[in-house]
Amino acid sequence: MRYYIETYGCQMNVYDSGKLAEMLKENSFSETPNPGEADFILVNTCSVRQHAEERALARIGELGRVTEKTKAVLAVCGCMAQRLGPEILKKRGVDIVVGPDAYSVLLPAFEKSRATDSKTLDTTRNPGFRFRVSSDRAGQGLRAFVGIMKGCSNTCSFCIVPAVRGPAISRPHKEVLEEVRELLDGGARDITLIGQNVNAYGDEELSFAKLLAMTSDAGPGSRVRFTTSHPKDMSESVIEVMAERENICEHLHLPLQSGSNRILERMRRGYTTERYREIVGAGRDLVPGISITTDLIVGFPGETLEDFKKTCAFVEELRFDSAFMFKFSPRPGTEAASMRDDVPTLEKERRLSELIHIEQRVSWDRSAALVGEVMEVLVETEKKKGVERFLLGRTRCNRTVRFSGPGELVGKFVNIGIDSSKGISLFGSLVHG
Ligand code: SAM
Ligand code: SF4
Repeated sequence: MRYYIETYGCQMNVYDSGKLAEMLKENSFSETPNPGEADFILVNTCSVRQHAEERALARIGELGRVTEKTKAVLAVCGCMAQRLGPEILKKRGVDIVVGPDAYSVLLPAFEKSRATDSKTLDTTRNPGFRFRVSSDRAGQGLRAFVGIMKGCSNTCSFCIVPAVRGPAISRPHKEVLEEVRELLDGGARDITLIGQNVNAYGDEELSFAKLLAMTSDAGPGSRVRFTTSHPKDMSESVIEVMAERENICEHLHLPLQSGSNRILERMRRGYTTERYREIVGAGRDLVPGISITTDLIVGFPGETLEDFKKTCAFVEELRFDSAFMFKFSPRPGTEAASMRDDVPTLEKERRLSELIHIEQRVSWDRSAALVGEVMEVLVETEKKKGVERFLLGRTRCNRTVRFSGPGELVGKFVNIGIDSSKGISLFGSLVHG
């Protein structure tokens, strides 16, 4: 049996898709990159913005036409499955729709669909549901995510995540560390602890700072990262752990959303730009070379030109290493969806392109400033482009670096002298010795 999987959205979905793939492989499936050859097609979806939903719906339509021809089983998983269950099940060619707490029904539903051509819908909420941790993680790749919590208990007024993923639930730390060890034993060298708001982690008395330190102890000689941090819950103790531990990478993804306190309040983010500036200051003071990345939304309801200019000025001041930038997208059922969406679409687009322009200039300058440095790089892959062969690796601050070298270096840490930059990517050469 062969499966094909397509993933939309955040790292949480990438992690879940990895687990789905693991579950299928344990049940004698093998992966195919071609949906036309698959017996089981899975689409793991995202509801965070309307655009993400539209793209996934269009793709589900295309894949539905494929499965009608090939008689493969088509399953839709993830946040859209949870939010729009029955509506998606009506789509042509769709056989199974399951929400994130119901993945254990996938295999029985696949068998049932093949045997009787019947459909399955399961959007049951099961706060205790977790994928079983497999004991053999060999060949999972050099980079691996480890989920430390699911859901989110914040009330950001624009966000649909709490509605589709439920409240924040922290995974027991023993289970997290067990998965980290299995991944390291299987060859992973760059582990990222993930959750929507990792700083809210709490397993009995154990805080995120403590879990981070324990993860660092579990993998001496391997890299440890984490995402996403929330400025409201970010504590200086996490920055101290980063500063103390050699193997915790110098990267902090800290979504700002807006540079205007008035808009941050309407977004119910629970911090001010002053507090945000303080955290970034502590990071840059205590962790030399730290890369700070962020998320920004333009055109939130009530955002005046003055509020938007504050965001632009804050980006110029804080000089982010990179940013994901979005137009506000009203999500059904959220508090912001009932506010007057008063920034016209064309103006949202204009603000977005102005912000992207400013942010890119800042980020590209920060990359250019790394030229001349020698950086530790984990070699991730060898690529071919025409007759050219080159290696791609990742710095501790999460930038990709392209350089020449033998393929045997894949999986190793090397020192690379940075010769040039293009956008946020770096180009360099091996430093021997
Ligand atoms: N949990 C993370 C946090 O609080 O920073 C982010 C989670 S969300 C999946 C990723 C990003 O999508 C957010 O940081 C925000 O910038 C963006 N986003 C979420 N809802 C949005 C909406 N309704 N419209 C536009 N962007 C949105
Ligand atoms: Fe959404 Fe806010 Fe939770 Fe992030 S912290 S997932 S933006 S509600």
